[in-house]
Amino acid sequence: MQTPTPLEKLNHADFLAAKIEVYIKRDDLNHPQIQGNKWHKLKHNLAEAQRLHKTQLITFGGAFSNHIAATAAAAKQYGFSSLGLIRGDELAEQPDNWSATLKTAHNNGMALQFLSRKVYRQKSQPDFLQQLALKHPQAWIIPEGGTNQFAIDGFKSLASDLKQQCPDWTYIITAVGTGGTLAGLGKYLNISPQQQVLGVPAIGNADYLTEVINAWIEAGDQSKNWSFLNLNTPIRYGKITPVILQMQQQFKVDFNVPLDPIYTAKMVLGFYQALAENRFPPHSKIILLHTGGLQGIR
Ligand SMILES: *Cc1c(COP(=O)(O)O)cnc(C)c1O
Repeated sequence: MQTPTPLEKLNHADFLAAKIEVYIKRDDLNHPQIQGNKWHKLKHNLAEAQRLHKTQLITFGGAFSNHIAATAAAAKQYGFSSLGLIRGDELAEQPDNWSATLKTAHNNGMALQFLSRKVYRQKSQPDFLQQLALKHPQAWIIPEGGTNQFAIDGFKSLASDLKQQCPDWTYIITAVGTGGTLAGLGKYLNISPQQQVLGVPAIGNADYLTEVINAWIEAGDQSKNWSFLNLNTPIRYGKITPVILQMQQQFKVDFNVPLDPIYTAKMVLGFYQALAENRFPPHSKIILLHTGGLQGIR
């Protein structure tokens, strides 16, 4: 594990021409199995579960959830048993058709229970969670995508790394799923009026997340220092389009940095879109946050 993870400068004629500096924060290198933002989200959850003498981790996710894979790996490493409640019951009897993510999680000892989409939809309802807790009194239950208060607080250390490695950054760009990562950065970066965090949604319509993110940040004024950078190409969570694949491949050719097609390739696509729209004034210092997710492409 490398702390802090490297902040690498990306050199390209286009960046020179636009008079901007572009860096990538290689947080994909922070942990081999519990990678990128998932490590930040889990680390305080693990500590809290240990403090409460819990013996099991339970969480929720779809078949391609990096959070499911990360939770399974974390449970194994920290001595918890784990249960993944997976969206969609069509895979229950068909382990041969499981995604690489589900297989990895299973190999790390996670028990998988497949819920019908109807039942899965109740995943954050208090009644449902209370029943689950009653049934599994020794379990620490983590929401889908891993975003809770402990997860948000996990970004304090990343924010302090970034401030040390590049105090005069002007834009930080991150991918958005639940918005937990964006909220954690917004909360802990002490953003000045010259700085902005841009979140590129990996899901079709992220508008509903605005309120959620502002609530996590807990500061009316700070919330003005982040915004969504919506892609102008049609996207859907988990749907890999040729535009996204091409970005993933080109970035590897240009900078030898691996991206994943669900999140980080979209984040980089958002950066290039904003660059093409001349959204970055000369002398901007832009940090692309590599949030990991590479387990899914192995
Ligand atoms: C889960 C994930 C995200 C989304 O993070 P949120 O905090 O849910 O917004 C972004 N990038 C990668 C690589 C992920 O695995």
